[in-house]
Amino acid sequence: MYPDDAKKTFVLKGMGASPGIVMGKAYLFDRLDSLISFYTLNDTALVEAEIVRFRDAVAKSEKELLEVKNKLSSIGGIEPSYIIDVHIMILNDGAFMNNTMQCIRDMFVNAEWAIRMTVDKYREIFDKVEDDYLRKRFNDIQYVAQMILRNLAGKKLETVEDIGEGVIIIAQDLSPADTAQMKFDQVLGFATDVGGKTSHTAIVARSIEIPAVIGLKTLTKVVRTNDDVIVDGTSGVVIVNPDPEILHRYEEKKKLEREGKKEYLKHAQLPAVTLDQYRVEIGGNIEFSEEIPSAIANGAEGIGLYRTEYIYINREQLPTEEDHFASYRRVVGVEGLAWSTIRTFDLGGDKFFSDPKLAKEMNPQMGLRAIRFCLKEVDLFKVQLRAILRSAAYGKTKILFPMISGIEEIREAKSILHDVKRELTAADIPIGEDIEIGIMIEVPSAVVIADELAKEVDFFSIGTNDLIQYALAIDRINDRVSYLYEPLHPAVLRLVKRVVDVGHAAGIRVAMCGEMAGDPVCTMILLGLELDELSMHPLAIPKVKKIIRGATVKESKELLEKVMSFQSSVEIRDYVEDFMQKRFPSEFPEIDQG
Ligand code: PEP
Ligand code: MG
Repeated sequence: MYPDDAKKTFVLKGMGASPGIVMGKAYLFDRLDSLISFYTLNDTALVEAEIVRFRDAVAKSEKELLEVKNKLSSIGGIEPSYIIDVHIMILNDGAFMNNTMQCIRDMFVNAEWAIRMTVDKYREIFDKVEDDYLRKRFNDIQYVAQMILRNLAGKKLETVEDIGEGVIIIAQDLSPADTAQMKFDQVLGFATDVGGKTSHTAIVARSIEIPAVIGLKTLTKVVRTNDDVIVDGTSGVVIVNPDPEILHRYEEKKKLEREGKKEYLKHAQLPAVTLDQYRVEIGGNIEFSEEIPSAIANGAEGIGLYRTEYIYINREQLPTEEDHFASYRRVVGVEGLAWSTIRTFDLGGDKFFSDPKLAKEMNPQMGLRAIRFCLKEVDLFKVQLRAILRSAAYGKTKILFPMISGIEEIREAKSILHDVKRELTAADIPIGEDIEIGIMIEVPSAVVIADELAKEVDFFSIGTNDLIQYALAIDRINDRVSYLYEPLHPAVLRLVKRVVDVGHAAGIRVAMCGEMAGDPVCTMILLGLELDELSMHPLAIPKVKKIIRGATVKESKELLEKVMSFQSSVEIRDYVEDFMQKRFPSEFPEIDQG
């Protein structure tokens, strides 16, 4: 053995994209560079042949993509198969093709080299894009380029199916086509260099419940195929070549997690009723309809938040009414779900959209976002509302308007909804009856005038992610101020309390669908506040339900009253964590480890 081959241990911290722990052999997916050779064409006669070679590789790539697309639709794969359309579009993009052929012609380089130059050109352009989401779309161009390079090298498309059983996929990035095929069970988990909140792979991984860590930056540089790897999607850590002691520790941790999960799932289908008979409705937050089976299995009684903006991602063209309708039909009226809350699209802010109508803003979180955008682009809004109303004919539906800051906005939104209803009815198109109308309470002004807003709607849903952002003036995606992001801040508790009290006084139900709803540390506080519905990421449901079933509202109110007398968020957090750990020791083993 050469000294180089001595296996070094690396511990890398990224972002947990999908919880759970796996250990296994690494498979470095698509280490493409080794396939590429660069050379110049020393005879002009070779130039046209090289162009034909390039065109053939493009045609082959397109054929492969179409095959993946067909396969995905036949297995009922991940919803965003339109991302494959985007890849096909890049393949057919005149600028990409022409630039590459121009390089071959003008510089006498082989197709591989020319592609590299084209990709570098795109990289330069994308690097200058300030919008984080758009900048990351460069990955799609890279993915397509790699596909052509692979075909130039005469390699067939590497798919997860080819890899063999039980490996952990390590990649720079994974396309939805890659991750979709992980449904076939060969893959234990995955870890990628890139990725963020908006990465498709993060969302997809959660929906198919494979542990995943993203944003590891240098992982593909330190790991080799067949290395031993631990992926801890719960803590966002990847360990390459763990020593026996680390391995043992993780085996124990995994066992605990597995036992805990089994235990939680036992109770997951039971109603969330406290020991003193207070009933909380439990919703699941989803981004794709593929998450519904997981939501039901984890104990969601309905969909408390369907974030519809994902329908808009990565599209050159806006989704049609039929596109919307097809998405909502997969969510509304599903057996096992008592209701579906469809939130009208919340684009702008940290949400993404490749339409110039959403111009770059200095301060996007406070910009033309969510309902504000909808009320400006009424035609676009109406397309979505028509589809929601039509799909509501198939099951209990609630419509939720995001980012309401004043009474005019909700009145205007309702009036547009009313117009759309009239148009559909006049055209004899069936629509749902008894649709409940609600608003997200996520702007502090909405809390202040909650009494007025309550007269306009059937329910409130508190979006703590934004409410905390705006109330505490903390950009929710800025790492540098994330230490200030505190759901247990006394101001946040008072805001939530006001919304619940005012909502109840007006006789309407109050839900919470921000991350706070799924944080088990906060569960008793929320019981004390008497929220009617908690909607959360499906994987968070079992633990929260278990706590609800093991607690009383009486003791929760006492806890709430106690912490409401504290002045600082640090005091509150310490007290609540300590309380919860003593009250539910098996649910909070990690808290005492700091
Ligand atoms: C929220 O703001 O709490 C919320 C649920 O909405 P989103 O995270 O989609 O902004
Ligand atoms: Mg929000």
